[in-house]
Amino acid sequence: MAPPEGSKFPQGAEHMTRSLAPGCTPRPGAAVRNPSHHRFPTAKRICARMLAACLACGVPMAASAQHARANGEVSALLSRAESVQLKNPQQALALAQRAVEVADRAGARGLVRRSQAAVCEATVDIDPQAALPLADDGEQASRAAGDMAGVARFLGCRGYALERLGKPHEAALVHEGAVSAAERASDRASLADALALRGESRHYHGRYDEAIADLNRAYALNLDLGRKDGQHYALNAIANVYSDGNVAEFDKAIAYYRQLLRDNEAAGLRSEVATALFNIASANVQKGRLDEALPDFRRAMAIDLELGNPAGVAESERSIGVVLARQGRADEALPLMDSALARFDAAGDEESAARVRISRARALHALGRGREALADLVVAERHFLERHNPRLLAQVYEAQAAIHAGAGDWRRAYEALGAYRKAQEALEARAREEQGSRLRVQFDTAKKEQENRELLIENALRGEALRNAERVRSLQRLTILLGAALVVLLAAMAVLQVRRGRHLRRLAMTDELTGVPNRRGILERLEREVAALRDGRALAVIAFDVDHFKRINDVHGHQGGDRVLESIADVVARHLPPAGRLGRMGGEEFLIVLPACGAAAASALAEDLRARVAGARFDGFDAEARVTISLGVSEGAPGDDIEALLRRADAALYRAKGEGRDRVVLG
Ligand code: GH3
Ligand code: MG
Ligand code: MG
Repeated sequence: MAPPEGSKFPQGAEHMTRSLAPGCTPRPGAAVRNPSHHRFPTAKRICARMLAACLACGVPMAASAQHARANGEVSALLSRAESVQLKNPQQALALAQRAVEVADRAGARGLVRRSQAAVCEATVDIDPQAALPLADDGEQASRAAGDMAGVARFLGCRGYALERLGKPHEAALVHEGAVSAAERASDRASLADALALRGESRHYHGRYDEAIADLNRAYALNLDLGRKDGQHYALNAIANVYSDGNVAEFDKAIAYYRQLLRDNEAAGLRSEVATALFNIASANVQKGRLDEALPDFRRAMAIDLELGNPAGVAESERSIGVVLARQGRADEALPLMDSALARFDAAGDEESAARVRISRARALHALGRGREALADLVVAERHFLERHNPRLLAQVYEAQAAIHAGAGDWRRAYEALGAYRKAQEALEARAREEQGSRLRVQFDTAKKEQENRELLIENALRGEALRNAERVRSLQRLTILLGAALVVLLAAMAVLQVRRGRHLRRLAMTDELTGVPNRRGILERLEREVAALRDGRALAVIAFDVDHFKRINDVHGHQGGDRVLESIADVVARHLPPAGRLGRMGGEEFLIVLPACGAAAASALAEDLRARVAGARFDGFDAEARVTISLGVSEGAPGDDIEALLRRADAALYRAKGEGRDRVVLG
């Protein structure tokens, strides 16, 4: 599947989770073929599953014995096509084409369309561009026949082709269409599949709460239908959302992955067992539990070796290498990275190979082999430039800057840093753009729904009133009561809906460690306040960063460091004014948003917080040990955007560090 083009996917190149191989006939190795893109909807496999499900569930079609025979034959051809599709798409195509002929001879139009959908899917693997007209024709034919499940299927094929062509945004729209079609078809199996695809696509676009809602629905439908594979697929996708760096519900994710692990072990699905182990390990890495991750990665790798799945092996090798390098064992990491790279190169998987090169460059740099590291980065840079992927480019430039600086080549280091900043800016601009338009859409939809609800209630009441006029008084009272009950019911439903939405939103917006809003959460808050700046309201922000945090980690371990972060967040959050909000921007950097607050008040608050943290006691620390923070304050001016405001606060924070730390600077 094509890599998420220009992905602003939240995770770095270092940690990935994989999709599960769904499908009526589980295909070993399918999911792990290219785990680095795992998060992207694995449309093909779902489409195939949709197909088999519909054939199996006996949609009324075979009026005659001939039809019944054709149905059996087509069924057999298509499931064979499905089983060879990954290894040999050409053969899958030939089989699907034979199915079309058989169905055509029997005059079974529905079966012809189903087979054509399989032709479409096999074509995507050979030439995604060529699949687009097939998907269009199939969709039109299905529409003409009033076959909405068929429409959903061909839209699925179209979406898959668009993903392969590196057009995730267009693909997302197509998935929307597939869900509506499946909904109209009242075909719960295809609805479950379309929802799963849309959910994954929404996850890919950072719409976490909506993704979870879709995936939960897909899970529930599959549960109802007794489709085990579908349940597993949805559960894995849900866990992938939770283990996303931005959602950071790692323990929840691990619990789900473990459930999948148990189920798949019991069912003897080795490839899926490897996927679950890999995903558990990745989530542990993200939680910083490196030692715990290694054995699971190794077990996943052993299974993939046994199953002859080179991509899975390579992904585990890379991940183990990354962990070892982070543990200061770069010399052990290197041979693993070499091997992973060789495997990806042999498979012609340039995207994964380029990611490995970034990781390998870091290990080489740690071993003092800067020149070789730079050579890797040149290749990676070329690849990600072509793919317009600012997220991974930023990582390339960051590594380049570190290597040049290490070699004392300050000019090149400076240049690399400039490129790094540019890539970061591109990334942020894209994030803002998407976030902005998404919020607008959400807002518009919410407003529309509210209006619709009001209209509904109004109409109901008006209707009741008219009828009441013609009836006796007692009846009139009764209907008024009914009307009121309706209002209460609708209101209760609305409240429930809002609560559920809020709960999901909160999940996606909260930092797990400290319980304060995460980066997304606090920036969304800031976005709202910056909008209020235009109405002349005051606004200030404080950026702060823990001083010498690395030393704290060194002395007290990562967990000790984590406890310090929790305590600081707690002290600060308890001493903010009522409208003030604290959020964790990442690592040991925090941001405070202070609506209706000017520079003087913000500086005074910053000083107060500084003193409180400096005076705080931390469990397990020496009595005289002090933890301090440096703070940068900036005040919003009319016409400011978030970026300008944050830039000034960051610059002030930077100055506070430069002037000796443990102090407040107003920017
Ligand atoms: P400075 O005073 O210049 O800010 O020094 P510093 O040591 O704090 O420097 P820097 O910001 O570079 O280092 C931050 C360190 O924080 C690096 C990283 O290992 C660690 N860190 C990042 N996130 C976490 C976390 O969630 N928990 C713990 N314990 N450590 C973290
Ligand atoms: Mg620091
Ligand atoms: Mg820092």
